[in-house]
Amino acid sequence: RSTLRIGLIPADGIGREVIPAARRTLEALGSDLPKLEFRDLLAGFDLFTRTGTALPRETVEVLKEGCDAALFGAVSSPSRKVAGYSSPIVALRKELDLYANIRPVVSVASESEERPAVDLIVVRENTECLYVKQESLTQTASGKEARATRLITERTMAFELALARPRKQVTIIHKSNVLSVTDGLFRETVRAVPQLLEVAGRFDSVAIAEQIVDSAVYRLFREPEIYDVMVAPNLYGDILSDAAAALVGSLGLVPSVNAGDSFVMGEPVHGSAPDIEGQGIANPLAAIRSAALMLRHLKYQDAADRIDAAVNHVVREGQFLTPDLGGKSKTDDVVEAVLRRL
Ligand code: NAD
Ligand code: MN
Repeated sequence: RSTLRIGLIPADGIGREVIPAARRTLEALGSDLPKLEFRDLLAGFDLFTRTGTALPRETVEVLKEGCDAALFGAVSSPSRKVAGYSSPIVALRKELDLYANIRPVVSVASESEERPAVDLIVVRENTECLYVKQESLTQTASGKEARATRLITERTMAFELALARPRKQVTIIHKSNVLSVTDGLFRETVRAVPQLLEVAGRFDSVAIAEQIVDSAVYRLFREPEIYDVMVAPNLYGDILSDAAAALVGSLGLVPSVNAGDSFVMGEPVHGSAPDIEGQGIANPLAAIRSAALMLRHLKYQDAADRIDAAVNHVVREGQFLTPDLGGKSKTDDVVEAVLRRL
C-alpha cells in the first residue's frame, strides 16, 4: 500500500474527544506507515436527532469503497425505544460483515512484575442475531444455518489468535446447561473448529477449555491468569469484557477491533460516557490502543508496537493520567505524553 485510507466515525459523546486523539497518534508515526488519508464520517444518535438518520448511506459507502480500515468512537443509544432509531454501530458491524469483536484486556506490568497480571483476549461474536433472536430461530433452517456460518468463521479467528500466543488456550464461554440448543450449538461449533477440513492440523497445538458464563465471571475476578483467549457469544462477550476492564483499572484503557475477512474497524470498548462528556477528561488510551490494534490487524506490527509501548510507559509512569485512573490530567495532556514517548 502506498496510502492507508482510514474512515473516522467519532459519533457521540466522548467518541468526539477520543477519536481525534487516536488520529493524532497515527499521524505521529511518520515513516512507519504509508501516507495516511483520513475521511471524517457521520453517524450517531445526535445526528439522528438533527437529521432523522443515525447512519447515512454515504458513511457506509465511503467505508466500503474508499477506506482500508476505520475507527469508531461511541454511540449514545437511549435505553427507551425511539421511533425510527436503531444503533448505527450494530448496523455497521452487519453492513461491513465484521463478525468478530476482539477485545484484549491486558494490565500494564509494573517494573517488578515479569508479565502482566491480566493478559487475556475476549473474542465476542459480533452480530445481533445470536442474542436478539432466541433459540427458536435455530429451529428454522435458515436461521440455524446463518448462525452456524458466522460462528464457524469467527471461531477460526479465535483459534488464529490463540495460535499467536504463548499459552495457546481457547476457553469457550457458554451457558449450554440451560440454553442447550443455542449455546450448545456455539460450544459444539467451537469444539469442531480444529477438525474443519480447511484448517486440518493447523490448530493441533491449541488447547480447548470451557466454562459456564456465570462461574467464568467469578473465576475471572479471582484468578484471571487462568484465561488466555475467551470466545463468547455476543451478549456474554460484551458483559465479560466490561467486567475484565475493571481488573485492569478502567474501561478507558480497553480497546477492540471489529473484524471480518475484508475490513477492520477499531473501537474502544467503552460507550459515549455522557457523565463526563465535554469536560476534556475522557481517557484517550482505549481509542489510541484501538488504533494500534487496527494497525496490527493490517499487519503494521512495528507501528502498533510503538503505540502500545508508549501507552504502557505513560500508564506505568503514572504522571499523566485522567481521573478514571486516579489522575488529574486532561485528555490532551495524556495524548501529549503518548506523543512524546512515541
Ligand atoms: P460507558 O462505557 O459510556 O460509561 C461507563 C462508565 O465508564 C462511566 O462512568 C464513564 O464515565 C466511564 N468511562 C467510559 N469510558 C471512559 C473513558 N474513555 N474515560 C473515562 N471514563 C470512561 O457506558 P454507559 O454509561 O452505560 O453508556 C453510555 C452510553 O453509551 C449509552 O447510550 C450506551 O448505549 C452507549 N454505549 C455505546 C457503546 C458503543 O458505542 N459501542 C458501548 C457501550 C455503551
Ligand atoms: Mn459494551
